Amino acid sequence: MYNFFNFDSNMIKIIEETEKKIEDKVREIDKIVEYNQGKVLKAFQKYQVSDFHLHSSTGYGYNDVGRDVLDNIYAEVFGAESGLVRPHIVSGTHALTIGFFGLLRPGDELLYITGDPYDTLEEVIGIHGNGMGSLKEWGINYNSIPLDDSGGVNLDLLKKMISKQTKVIAIQRSKGYSWRASFSIKEIEKMVLYVKGINPDIIIVVDNCYGEFTDTLEPTDIGADVIIGSLIKNPGGGLAKSGAYIVGKEKYIEKISYRLTAPGIGREIGATHGYMSDFYQGFFLAPHFVGEALKGAIFTAALLENLGFETSPKWHEDRNDIIQAVKFNNPLRLTTFLKGIQKGSPIDSHVVPESSNIPGYQNRVIMAAGVFVQGASLELSGDAPIVEPYIGYVQGGLTYQHVKWGILTAIDVMLQNNLID
Ligand SMILES: *Cc1c(COP(=O)(O)O)cnc(C)c1O
Repeated sequence: MYNFFNFDSNMIKIIEETEKKIEDKVREIDKIVEYNQGKVLKAFQKYQVSDFHLHSSTGYGYNDVGRDVLDNIYAEVFGAESGLVRPHIVSGTHALTIGFFGLLRPGDELLYITGDPYDTLEEVIGIHGNGMGSLKEWGINYNSIPLDDSGGVNLDLLKKMISKQTKVIAIQRSKGYSWRASFSIKEIEKMVLYVKGINPDIIIVVDNCYGEFTDTLEPTDIGADVIIGSLIKNPGGGLAKSGAYIVGKEKYIEKISYRLTAPGIGREIGATHGYMSDFYQGFFLAPHFVGEALKGAIFTAALLENLGFETSPKWHEDRNDIIQAVKFNNPLRLTTFLKGIQKGSPIDSHVVPESSNIPGYQNRVIMAAGVFVQGASLELSGDAPIVEPYIGYVQGGLTYQHVKWGILTAIDVMLQNNLID
């Protein structure tokens, strides 16, 4: 089968060694998948999902029971009271924006305790840009606490920085575009308990992007007030064509719902067009597809470590999101690798990605995304800001086998360009 793509015969031995090495680690993933599959199944049964829930409303979307039941299923699975799962939320950034604007008022402070947030939030907060209606322009202050040297939250500084104005504390579970480790549920629980011990009224919002179903618990299970994520990442299960979710305590979800639509209207309306069937089936399949992506990431890390690259997490380390970071130390190696990921894709395998300026990102960014749903990163994809030390972020893969073919293609392209031995 390795002749399909004329791979160098020397690669076969390395592939076999790699797969043997990761066997036990891959089996651990199956346990998480099995648990989460049961959890989702039970929620579907509890809410008695029927065929008619999968059909969608039009116009205002009053009495869209499919929409309302899916909100409850997300809340149930994530250990929360209430939820908003909507095709009208255009991305994860939009969902986080709705969440922050829904909860914060002029004079309040938003405090990120896991370092500065994901790049696209800088304009939302007002770190960059002007005249776009950022939190800052509405008189909402922002602060962040850099991670300590070991990559943990600086609790001493946190205690000093919390003030009367601190209304929302935000935690980013996933590493995003950074080299740090992603936070485990245990670590997030420690942060939650610490903050609530200082002031139980502070609202803890977790950016849960890329984290869903990588563990048996979600941040809302262990006391976070609100969690937010994108449906074209983990919980959409590869089937959702757009959308995002916001899940948490009822009193906060209600506030946020007035920002999602309009004050007074909230979650009562919002037609779901043709989205519901994919949302339901995607959420049902999400534990499995997240498992495939995790197994693929383990393979990717093990193989690239074998070839001498530094990875985060390392192949044997526990995973708290589906992202695999690889340090290339050289822009040509980085871009060639990502061009290889594109070449190994089912869609647009014949096109070559180039770095460019993308709204919301400060550095030039290169994105390899030969995917069925534009930008969907539960599908195998890779991206990187063009900045030292030239770290590539690879994530997703709806089948482990595709991740394998994709990574092998990327390595083959590097070999052909004499960028690895
Ligand atoms: C992807 C992501 C976002 C933003 O989501 P978009 O859908 O790209 O706007 C925010 N935070 C983290 C950690 C992410 O991975």
